[in-house]
Amino acid sequence: MKRVAVLGSTGSIGVSTLDVLARHPDRYLVTALAAASNWAMLLEQCVRFRPGVAVLQDPESAQLLALELRAAQCPTEVACGLDALDAVAASSQVDVVMAAIVGAAGLSSTLAAARAGKHVLVANKESLVMAGALLVDAARRGGAVLVPIDSEHNAIFQCMPPTLQTGQAPRGVHRILLTASGGPFLRTTREQMAGVTPEQACAHPRWRMGRKISVDSATLMNKGLELIEACVLFGMEPSRVSVVVHPQSIVHSMVEYVDGSILAQLGNPDMRTPIAHALGWPERIGSGVESLDLVAAARLDFEAPDLVRFPALVLARAAAEAGGTAPAALNAANEVAVAAFLEGRLDFLGIAALTDDVMGAHRGAPANDIGDILEADRWARGLAQARLGQAARTGA
Ligand code: NAD
Ligand code: MG
Repeated sequence: MKRVAVLGSTGSIGVSTLDVLARHPDRYLVTALAAASNWAMLLEQCVRFRPGVAVLQDPESAQLLALELRAAQCPTEVACGLDALDAVAASSQVDVVMAAIVGAAGLSSTLAAARAGKHVLVANKESLVMAGALLVDAARRGGAVLVPIDSEHNAIFQCMPPTLQTGQAPRGVHRILLTASGGPFLRTTREQMAGVTPEQACAHPRWRMGRKISVDSATLMNKGLELIEACVLFGMEPSRVSVVVHPQSIVHSMVEYVDGSILAQLGNPDMRTPIAHALGWPERIGSGVESLDLVAAARLDFEAPDLVRFPALVLARAAAEAGGTAPAALNAANEVAVAAFLEGRLDFLGIAALTDDVMGAHRGAPANDIGDILEADRWARGLAQARLGQAARTGA
């Protein structure tokens, strides 16, 4: 029996993970769950899976959860706060950690799981973007295995030679072809984009996901973050990662070898496939995903991304090339901008514009330790917030 902690269990990836785990009660035991504040959903999950511990970040929600668990005679203990989250990620009661918290908030627990040598399923792409080299190094020292959950990186992982070492470019690989659906605004003009609402931005044509990643998919910053993620996981220079728009989201990404062979991984767009792959790896287990009907799909289209309508991709490539603390600053500025857009304080085109503004002021520095990363994160958030405040005061 593998003992599994699902961090971010109330989110889109967390719920899909529990769906796959429930299909294999003979292989997996859920020993810990964690979320931000959604105590009602966490309560249902605790009653169903009976983990030893459940962690919430919000103290009032944690108190409510503890009360309700007692009333339901569920033995799960409740903990609260960042330290409790890191402790669960590193606990001797846990073999597998699903890192599915959204944003920079997931960095500390993902690092803790890597240091503690867990089988880490990395959905939290922001931690790889911010602190990729440190995370890969922590995993190597701790003896952890990092298996990517992001559908593209999971596809690339599957197309790589079996001798793959995290963070090292395998011999014989020429380049990575990272596919992008193009998001909800693939055919939207820049003028139209200026007026789109959060609801429109979150209505992704292929994937149902949390709100932050949905907005990132609409700006294509998600693909930009994934470009950085691919460089980190597979030891590639940014110039060897090409982005290809593929609206059907059936080819989840490809690897081209020096002999001209291109290997691809295909499947229905359902995150339970990469989740089941990463859970079972190196074995294969069922995921509940419907078999892909290629005849019904009929077409696979590919086109180049439009870098004028989607400048976020250009910003991310520049940050990937700059390295050091640039990706952490980019991620932080983008998180602030996306949150402001979701709250109605910034228009859609303002997301990339604000991120560009912050990156224009960013001074490159090496990222030698976690202190350097956190400082770049703090600086970029501060500047982004200040610019938002200035814009609000001038009515811009
Ligand atoms: P989501 O918003 O649906 O869920 C986020 C989860 O994180 C929730 O359980 C929430 O309670 C928890 N959380 C948020 N802040 C927290 C904090 N400070 N402390 C503890 N828990 C906190 O997001 P999602 O779509 O499930 O995405 C999760 C991660 O997976 C993101 O990094 C995203 O980029 C990545 N990812 C998601 C998908 C997808 O299909 N949803 C695909 C690829 C990658
Ligand atoms: Mg993805």
